[in-house]
Amino acid sequence: MALCGTTNVTKMMAAYNGGSSAVAAHHPHHHHQLQHLPPPHMHHHHHHHQQHQHHLQPQLDIEPDRPIGYGAFGVVWSVTDPRDGKRVALKKMPNVFQNLVSCKRVFRELKMLCFFKHENVLSALDILQPPHIDYFEEIYVVTELMQSDLHKIIVSPQALSSDHAKVFLYQILRGLKYLHSAGILHRDIKPGNLLVNSNCVLKICDFGLARVEETDEARHMTQEVVTQYYRAPEILMGSRHYSNSIDIWSVGCIFAELLGRRILFQAQSPIQQLDLITDLLGTPSMEAMRTACEGARAHIVRGPHKQASLPVLYTLSSQATHEAVHLLCRMLVFDPSKRISAKDALAHPYLDEGRLRYHTCMCKCCYTTSSGRVYTSDFEPVTTPKFDDGFEKNLSAVRQVKEIIHQFILEQQKGSRVPLCINPQSAAFKSFISSTVAQPSEMPPSPLVWE
Ligand SMILES: [Zn+2]
Repeated sequence: MALCGTTNVTKMMAAYNGGSSAVAAHHPHHHHQLQHLPPPHMHHHHHHHQQHQHHLQPQLDIEPDRPIGYGAFGVVWSVTDPRDGKRVALKKMPNVFQNLVSCKRVFRELKMLCFFKHENVLSALDILQPPHIDYFEEIYVVTELMQSDLHKIIVSPQALSSDHAKVFLYQILRGLKYLHSAGILHRDIKPGNLLVNSNCVLKICDFGLARVEETDEARHMTQEVVTQYYRAPEILMGSRHYSNSIDIWSVGCIFAELLGRRILFQAQSPIQQLDLITDLLGTPSMEAMRTACEGARAHIVRGPHKQASLPVLYTLSSQATHEAVHLLCRMLVFDPSKRISAKDALAHPYLDEGRLRYHTCMCKCCYTTSSGRVYTSDFEPVTTPKFDDGFEKNLSAVRQVKEIIHQFILEQQKGSRVPLCINPQSAAFKSFISSTVAQPSEMPPSPLVWE
């Protein structure tokens, strides 16, 4: 997996720091070309002959090619866009209209995918033309095709340098800052939901569990969130209310996993998950457990008093420098109100080199002219206004939501490109439509019920 080299280091750092030479001088060394990791799903063939059909047909068929992944909700295949020959990913959202809950969940995810405009967040490039509403059962979303994900990369034998870790963590936090600024909690940040292409560009994906943050602390939120290894202690302890800091906890776990190439807290059960966390962080104070349920607090109080053993993080790898461990310890904070935010984490010096590399040769927000690189004025943009989930309040029946979603998809396509639809005659279509949601074992495990 190739990472580009870095040029104009001083100029870039000067731009970022408003001309502060102190920081520019902080990173005078060269960046090495990173070892190339062969991505598992690269395709180079294009179907240029299909490009010329635009003017002949009001709609274009696309054919599914091969399955590339399984999210919490839905199946992803790679396809070729006949309009430009580009390979893209096609996600089928199946069984959408089974009941009102799944209708709402899918509509929320669809709205989010169409709302996102950020390089480190996967968004919808297109939605396939729906059939007449009487035959409308499934939704197909086209997104950018990414060759791999962080889980596959971490478990592969490929070398991962500290430059990789820095540029990956930078992009995760950059995407998360944007999501949190939109008022969205992802709630299932894990390596498999962080897609990576062959140039190391990373995009957060799978918004099947994402929702708008709940500002009313009296309102209960579901605990059916976050794959266990990346689950924040407040959720393990049965908190009825949580914030976007649950995503930061997950990022801390992933950061440690990038450094150590192994899962940080790999427990067999939610109780053991909590025990592994307190082994590292020590017994939490009563204050840090204030939102926990009584049974969970009793479990901690009954147990032995533990001292924090944070220096063990230095043994993750030789890449666990003082700066890396310092930032990691700001993410792995038991008390969610004291955990660092995505915005503040991005200001940590550990991420300076990742920012530099990203904006020197990976981003789309800066560009190069004959006289050099022109940097964006805002390296980590936020979004205004926030994502509005007010539309969910008035959804009360399956048929009604179906009509609203049908209309929404048609509106998305208005005036843009030739609409795409799936080719039901193709051989691949049969296996594509028969593929269903992820197996139960791939779903986030159910939450612990404290006695
Ligand atoms: Zn940029």
